[in-house]
Amino acid sequence: MTADATRVLVLNSGSSSLKYQLLDMNGGTRLAVGLVERIGEPASRLVHTPLAAGGDKRERTEPMPDHDAALKAVADELSEDGLGLDSPELAAIGHRVVHGGLKLTEPTVIDDAVLKEIERLVPVAPLHNPANLTGIRTAQRLRPDLPQVAVFDTAFHSTMPEYAARYAIDVETADAHRVRRYGFHGTSHAYVSRETAKLLGKQPEDVNVIVLHLGNGASASAVAGGRCVDTSMGLTPLEGLVMGTRSGDIDPAVIFHLERNAGMSSEEIDALLNKKSGLMGLCGDNDMREIRRRIDEGDKRAALAFDIYIHRLRKYIGAYTAVLGRVDAVAFTAGVGENAAPVREAAVLGLEEMGLAVDARLNAERSDEARIISPEYARVVVAVVPTDEELEIANQTYALVSS
Ligand code: AMP
Repeated sequence: MTADATRVLVLNSGSSSLKYQLLDMNGGTRLAVGLVERIGEPASRLVHTPLAAGGDKRERTEPMPDHDAALKAVADELSEDGLGLDSPELAAIGHRVVHGGLKLTEPTVIDDAVLKEIERLVPVAPLHNPANLTGIRTAQRLRPDLPQVAVFDTAFHSTMPEYAARYAIDVETADAHRVRRYGFHGTSHAYVSRETAKLLGKQPEDVNVIVLHLGNGASASAVAGGRCVDTSMGLTPLEGLVMGTRSGDIDPAVIFHLERNAGMSSEEIDALLNKKSGLMGLCGDNDMREIRRRIDEGDKRAALAFDIYIHRLRKYIGAYTAVLGRVDAVAFTAGVGENAAPVREAAVLGLEEMGLAVDARLNAERSDEARIISPEYARVVVAVVPTDEELEIANQTYALVSS
């Protein structure tokens, strides 16, 4: 790598999508961002925003039969902005990989052994790891000479103690099938917990933080001195909080009950719990903006969905307060956490005894910056800390290849 190779391309590959960002690590500026959707369909769509060039958003709709075609189209767009992927300034490509299991717990330069391990984990991440592998192989074909780095969603949670990671089921069965709690959204939890420490003017080692990543998917984590000690997602991203379309925690016997009494197959129940549950299942909407609008109009189903969402969230705040013993900050992040003031207010309402409160005026202010929204007197800082998973992936990738 040459000294002026300071750019990192971050790729987040889904089964039919490819999100990307090109960053310059010399200052951490974003040069271009974009998304390809509907890969493999007749009308694939690429939306590209050349931030460095200051140009307007560009869109292309054309058939892109596979990820190779999608990445080539992205490379063409970047070349048009003078940011081509053949540039010597490109230091590495960083890939978001959802499941790293127990072995891949650090950002890792991808070789054949790493590819094999990601593949071995497909049974525990059947939706995500195959798509991530496709993205990696595509990028390797485009730039075989360049370091490709995998950054794992599960990695930050690998420090969970065994008593938090293990389900209370037969140990032999669990181990034979790699059944345990892994946790997800780890890149976000890592970034936000560190940014929260910064906001408090402290080192990550010196603070205990509860991070509430509330997006369409949602998870909470308890972070003690910079290390994750518990998180709400488990073997898969289904466990924990009420989400946009996922149920979060339920009695596992609900599944047997539906199999035996509703004649549903395991595929149907899987779809029910992952796609037709959560806020969507409860009220027919998964967007918090729409739910709040309906509540303002007196809609009772939307109000109940909101109450169920908040009730679960408060239970996790209470649980993680007990896990941590001392909490210095509660940080809200992701789409709902960063934008929905009523969620933040309701989450800590009446919890002054636990040191938690929000200031109505600070909570109502809108900003893209990390900010404190609790009043001076509150023992625990409540903060809004925008997440930036791409920057975190780029930072980790660059740190690895430039060391
Ligand atoms: P994410 O998965 O982090 O992109 O978050 C997406 C979710 O954030 C959406 O489904 C909405 O529920 C929520 N969201 C985004 N913007 C707002 C907003 N201004 N107010 C309330 N919720 C929002």
